[in-house]
Amino acid sequence: MDFTATKALFDLPEGLVYLDGNSLGPLPRAAAARVAKAVTEEWGGQLITAWNQAGWMDQPMRLGDRIGRLIGAEPGCVTVGDTLTIKVYQALAAALALRPDRRKVISDTGNFPTDLYVARGLLETLGQGHELVTVAPEAIAGAIDEDTAAILVTEVDYRTGRRHDMAALTARAHAAGALALWDLAHSAGAVPVDLAGIGADFAMGCTYKFLNGGPGAPAFIYVSPRHAAEARPALAGWLGHAAPFAFEPDYRPGAGIARMRVGTPPVLQMAALEAALDIWDEVDMTALRARSIALSERFIDGVAAACPADVHGLALASPRDPAHRGSQVSFRHSQGYAIMQALIARGVVGDFRAPDILRFGITPLYIGEDEIDRAVATLAEILGGSLWDRPEYHRRATVT
Ligand SMILES: *Cc1c(COP(=O)(O)O)cnc(C)c1O
Repeated sequence: MDFTATKALFDLPEGLVYLDGNSLGPLPRAAAARVAKAVTEEWGGQLITAWNQAGWMDQPMRLGDRIGRLIGAEPGCVTVGDTLTIKVYQALAAALALRPDRRKVISDTGNFPTDLYVARGLLETLGQGHELVTVAPEAIAGAIDEDTAAILVTEVDYRTGRRHDMAALTARAHAAGALALWDLAHSAGAVPVDLAGIGADFAMGCTYKFLNGGPGAPAFIYVSPRHAAEARPALAGWLGHAAPFAFEPDYRPGAGIARMRVGTPPVLQMAALEAALDIWDEVDMTALRARSIALSERFIDGVAAACPADVHGLALASPRDPAHRGSQVSFRHSQGYAIMQALIARGVVGDFRAPDILRFGITPLYIGEDEIDRAVATLAEILGGSLWDRPEYHRRATVT
């Protein structure tokens, strides 16, 4: 794959070093025209008939299969819609119903808060005495026992980029009779994932991060074919019904993954996502991973040489071994917020996660050696001259 050519597929401001594609991917050049077509020709010209004519109704399943290729899903096992928070809820509710005699859900303290909030909220609503157990990331395997219904784990830690061993944890969960639920928010489009190969039970993720689907792009959910006929969607909506246009008074779940659909899909958002997936259809995830590792190593080595930790107090927060990292590199610094604002002011965009983490997404489709070297040089300049210590860089914005 020629990763120097793929940058031209994105509409990035000239001269910007964008290292935040792990939070919000950039605009694919083709997206604006694709969305305009959905607005003008489909909505404007076809009106209600577009649900059939323009294929709006089947779009969630079509897009699901295209994402499915990137995460090693079997065909027909992924659908798109709603938000990741909602898909976590659906997957966990379905998993608990498949293990009715068990009361524990295991997650880790590095998991993204919404996953933990929604899990606790669901367990409370069920009122059946379930418990969410959160342990250190390294302690998950040891925490799984005979009362564990499911593990709910995010493969790549959003703060540190630490990567779990999905295959080993899934096998450990299965050995104890539990189900394995994987949040792929920082995996889809970042690292190769093999859901079918490792036998994952459920998975879900978002499409606005590494997949570049745009702000508010819908989430995806995977259900293993082993559970597709039994899994209850929890949110039983009309578009997950076996026959939505029969308007039956009682709910009958649709075939397989279709039942995980809830209500009307976000058609305009899916048009943008479609343009992003036109790029992903051509991507070889193994080649992308190799390139991501090469660029991440260049960044880590460059920062270590230009900004020695003992001088500047900048410490690597990500695992040093690339096998244990996703596609982001994080550092800790007590002035992390101000340093990140100084970087952004100089055209190097990453982000900050409290209390002290500077995050940099490594996205080979539009980041190359030049961008990495500029990021290293800018960071060194800021630290060397304490250029971060200005009042405007200390002022906290709502989104960090
Ligand atoms: C980004 C992220 C989310 C966000 O959920 P939304 O419903 O899309 O806002 C959830 N979980 C993880 C692990 C994430 O990284």
